[in-house]
Amino acid sequence: AKYDGGQRMCFFERSMDKALQRRRMVEHELRLAIGRDEFDLLYQPQFSLETEEACGTEALIRWHHPVHGKIAPAHFISVAEETGLIVPLGEWVLRRACSDAVKWENPLTVAVNLSPAQFRDGDIVEMVSNVLKETGLPPERLELEITENLLINDTEEVLQKLKTLRKLGVAIAMDDFGTGFSSLSYLARFPFSKIKIDRHFIQMMTKDPAVKAIVRTIIALGKSLDITITAEGVETVEQARMLREFGCPKVQGFLYSQPIPASEAGHAKPKVSTL
Ligand code: C2E
Ligand code: CA
Ligand code: CA
Ligand code: CA
Repeated sequence: AKYDGGQRMCFFERSMDKALQRRRMVEHELRLAIGRDEFDLLYQPQFSLETEEACGTEALIRWHHPVHGKIAPAHFISVAEETGLIVPLGEWVLRRACSDAVKWENPLTVAVNLSPAQFRDGDIVEMVSNVLKETGLPPERLELEITENLLINDTEEVLQKLKTLRKLGVAIAMDDFGTGFSSLSYLARFPFSKIKIDRHFIQMMTKDPAVKAIVRTIIALGKSLDITITAEGVETVEQARMLREFGCPKVQGFLYSQPIPASEAGHAKPKVSTL
């Protein structure tokens, strides 16, 4: 048993080491990547369930590494957050998203994901307001997506910043709704214009009656609070039909469209019709 424990300990230490090494490498590479312009944005269209017309987009970052190729955000956003690199990177994302969107023939909204660190370490209000001025994007076309983990700490300061952003004319969306803790109290306290139901609920809802009831309730809640609901991760016709039955206004997911380049986002069409 002693021997075993020793082995395991050793393995654990070695894998910790590897994880740490990997993070250091990602951090180093990230610093270089910002200067080398290795990032790109794709836009995933959102559609009205009633008409199946495009009604908005979400900007999603991609990293094209010269050696490792395409790297998904799941592999580098957390490192960028922990190292503070998300502040310059997030500013790059916002500037690029606004300057892309302003060129689209169809004036769709563009949603940009924000990390808590951008509220903590940078002047988010000034940054957003400057980028809007520089790019000329009307504030009504910009949506900022935040997650519940932003709302856990420094709530008063965050609340003031969100209110000021709303005053600029920008919309605030709560992303990944349902995956955090006190979602319902946050809805009353913070100035949300939109809720995005996390894709795990959408995936489970056609299999699990309890999840189905939760999704139906969130949609009804959105209606009574006058907050637009978008269902994320819609992959099947069955899910789309169920969401329509519940009166869900908007959908986003691979069923309708993958994330697409900026040059196509201004005339996005759904891949299928479920009407
Ligand atoms: P998210 O904000 O929840 O974005 C939606 C993710 O779901 C995207 O993954 C999108 O490609 C994926 N997705 C869309 N439709 C479907 C579907 O039907 N099925 C499934 N299984 N997935 C779908 P992506 O692009 O890999 O982004 C992952 C996460 O990385 C995002 O989750 C967001 O939290 C973060 N992220 C992406 N871009 C940025 C950014 O510019 N800044 C920050 N701070 N975070 C970002
Ligand atoms: Ca998002
Ligand atoms: Ca989400
Ligand atoms: Ca997320």
